[in-house]
Amino acid sequence: MKILEILTAPDPRLLQKALPVEKVDNSVRKLMDQLLEIMYFKRGLGLASVQVGIHKRVAVIDLGEREGVPFKPLLMANPELLWVSPMTQRTEEGCLSVPGYYAEVVRPLEIRVSYLDENNKKQELEARGLLADCIQHEIDHLNGILFIEHLSFLKRKIISNKLIKEKKYTKGDL
Ligand SMILES: [Zn+2]
Repeated sequence: MKILEILTAPDPRLLQKALPVEKVDNSVRKLMDQLLEIMYFKRGLGLASVQVGIHKRVAVIDLGEREGVPFKPLLMANPELLWVSPMTQRTEEGCLSVPGYYAEVVRPLEIRVSYLDENNKKQELEARGLLADCIQHEIDHLNGILFIEHLSFLKRKIISNKLIKEKKYTKGDL
């Protein structure tokens, strides 16, 4: 089995839009499992297939335990925002594809999303707060958008220049 690796910015494959899956079959379920495995290993809250160089609209999220209640991992294919609230929230975000950088991003506070679950069943979910933020972050990935795109031009420029420099510097070690 091919071992999947997380792409990091400025890899151009992160800016490529993913295509919808026809249905959630065994191959898509396997991809969901692999994404979960890498996400847990890297201690992320979410991971989109684009981040491992697979351009299918598949993403997974696990917020871990929230206020004593275990969170059931959310496995999504073809997630689509049906509605977003006019009210926004400001959340500090990070990303496994932009390692070491965190910044506050403003996004809608509440959303409604539709997706196909691991059994190919169409689901609709209303989310707010951190979950709403994560879902929007992962859908962005499927559209080839990194969270730093939501920052001001100047902040984005500073982060991407640093990332380019770091990549040059570590090239020999990878
Ligand atoms: Zn991310």
